[in-house]
Amino acid sequence: MERYDAVIVGAGAAGLNAALVLGGSRREVLLLDGGPTRNAAARAAHGVFTRDGAAPTQLKSLGLADLAPYPVTVRPGVAREVRPWDGGFALRHDGGWAFARRLLLVTGVRDVLPGVPGLRERWGRTVHHCPYCDGWPSRESALGVLGSHQEGHHLALSVRAWSDRVVLLTNGPDELTNEQREDLRRVGVPVVSTPIRRLEGKDTVRVRFRDGERLTLDALFLNPTQVQRSHLPASLGCAMNAKSRVVVNEHGMTSVRGVWAAGDMTGAPQYVMSAAASGMLAAISLNTTLIHEDVRRAGAAFHKSPGEPQSPPPSGGEAS
Ligand SMILES: Cc1cc2nc3c(=O)[nH]c(=O)nc-3n(C[C@H](O)[C@H](O)[C@H](O)COP(=O)(O)OP(=O)(O)OC[C@H]3O[C@@H](n4cnc5c(N)ncnc54)[C@H](O)[C@@H]3O)c2cc1C
Repeated sequence: MERYDAVIVGAGAAGLNAALVLGGSRREVLLLDGGPTRNAAARAAHGVFTRDGAAPTQLKSLGLADLAPYPVTVRPGVAREVRPWDGGFALRHDGGWAFARRLLLVTGVRDVLPGVPGLRERWGRTVHHCPYCDGWPSRESALGVLGSHQEGHHLALSVRAWSDRVVLLTNGPDELTNEQREDLRRVGVPVVSTPIRRLEGKDTVRVRFRDGERLTLDALFLNPTQVQRSHLPASLGCAMNAKSRVVVNEHGMTSVRGVWAAGDMTGAPQYVMSAAASGMLAAISLNTTLIHEDVRRAGAAFHKSPGEPQSPPPSGGEAS
């Protein structure tokens, strides 16, 4: 079995940045690249320092290229199972088994889109979830928000900051409170509750309602629910919160000893830069525990063989 200081499962922003930091810390790292990142359907990523507007595939290629000088092995393939083994973890992936002293899960989430016909095909193109990511290209145009409850109300008020032509589509009876209706009325967002038959259009979103009415929008925003993309955190017994995100402390440590998590799959804000930042913090924390473990092992070896000449155990080991 190949042995690594750390195995990183997932090559999105969180995993790539963690690999950069751990490789740069002279750790032997295996980075498992299981396929497209969450934003793969989008043409461009926004709010990304020095790379604003780059295609998600380009961001990933650049992230992989940055790893070249470091002791990071990148393998395409999915991590299939993981179990505690020999003080670390044995992990089965598409290329075989690997041993990891520490494990970093950065497997992301899967967006569960509403079942409106025609919506999935437009996801990331003319149907978006986040005005901070896709609001600027859609500014001052005809925008729709799909949502029937509190999150629809909240998203409609946010999107309104990018355009004064916003309509809230509830696709059937809504659950808005009178107060929420009043908020929307005050900023000029009409509420349409007619059920939607399907979405059409290439560069615009043509909404066809069940009653035969039509509405053309430049873009549609919605707030999808999400599930963990990988079963690994659950199979390891990582604690999850009410939104099915992996619970981590401020260093990215999960409830399972030796396992860290970062990026969208945790409660971290869901942006490329936040995911990258949380990957970095998790990598530093993970590496700090390796430093301490190496110091302990060196100390144990020193005390066990007093007769043999050897260098004294290193002191310190605290990482900033
Ligand atoms: C349509 C869309 C557009 C977006 N636009 C923007 C934007 O403009 N700006 C912005 O800041 N954010 C944007 N986001 C959010 C952004 O994509 C995420 O915040 C970011 O991708 C999170 O990075 P991550 O590394 O946590 O997860 P991900 O990017 O989802 O990466 C996780 C990786 O893990 C891999 N993986 C999963 N399971 C396994 C396994 N078992 N074995 C191996 N690999 C595995 C996946 O294949 C994936 O490559 C957008 C999101 C969407 C959906």
